[in-house]
Amino acid sequence: MEVTIGKTSGFCGGVQNVISKTEKRLDEEKKTIYCLGEIVHNRQVIEKLEKKGLKIVNNIEEVKDRAIIRAHGVTKEVYERAKEKGIELIDLTCPKVLQIHKIAEEYAKNNYYIILIGVKNHPESISTISFCGENSYLLEEKEEIETVIEKIKKSNLHKIFIIAQTTYKLTKFEEIVQEIKEKTKNKYEIEVKNTICEATRKRQGETAELSKKVNIMIIVGGKNSSNTKKLYDVAKENCKKSVLCETVEELDIQEIKKYEKVGIMAGASTPDEIVEEIKQKIIK
Ligand code: SF4
Repeated sequence: MEVTIGKTSGFCGGVQNVISKTEKRLDEEKKTIYCLGEIVHNRQVIEKLEKKGLKIVNNIEEVKDRAIIRAHGVTKEVYERAKEKGIELIDLTCPKVLQIHKIAEEYAKNNYYIILIGVKNHPESISTISFCGENSYLLEEKEEIETVIEKIKKSNLHKIFIIAQTTYKLTKFEEIVQEIKEKTKNKYEIEVKNTICEATRKRQGETAELSKKVNIMIIVGGKNSSNTKKLYDVAKENCKKSVLCETVEELDIQEIKKYEKVGIMAGASTPDEIVEEIKQKIIK
């Protein structure tokens, strides 16, 4: 049996940065530090940091003194509210996400209607759309294209700027952009900036390649991790026998052992130890 772990599997730079800096602060200060939302979409990582004093809250109103902003970023309103309340923000938003916020604000100022292609209830999309101004729309599925075109007409703007959530599925982003262009038929000046991050693109590309070569593909990641779900979609397109799990306990190891070639890929918030544990159980 051959077990291949994807080279791009596991923590991306943004997640690695948040975890290491948070852990360092907790170890040095030995005091409670609040975090706005789950620090990463991975239960095991959260539990480890909670033991060291991390307190996850879902609202800035619950924060007493200072709070970490995770890689996904927060809305403009949260920054404003923190200032009003005198709360210190430890801003660990991924620099790539901050860059998108900056670009979105510039284009909004220059009278573009902004379409953010992303998952509606994802914290990163919610944070980014708050920097896009009132003439903007968070679009998740192709079916919403007509709705957004109507909104653009009503806005009286003539320019459209299209961006993406950093972990959106690349092929789906390209399809939606193409359809927007076809449906607006040169009526608008359209600028597209593919803001899907390099780490995500490489990981999705490698998942597609690896899943073509194996008999079973295992995708590892948190149940509420958007980038992990996208990897699972990519894997399924190329390998019918694809499974999604958060930990080794969820896998039927005896069933997996029946396959000759096994591929494993993990989402951006999955520690390498979990992937290695799965591999060891399979080859044992
Ligand atoms: S996926 Fe990319 S943009 Fe998102 S946190 Fe990781 S490195 Fe940053």
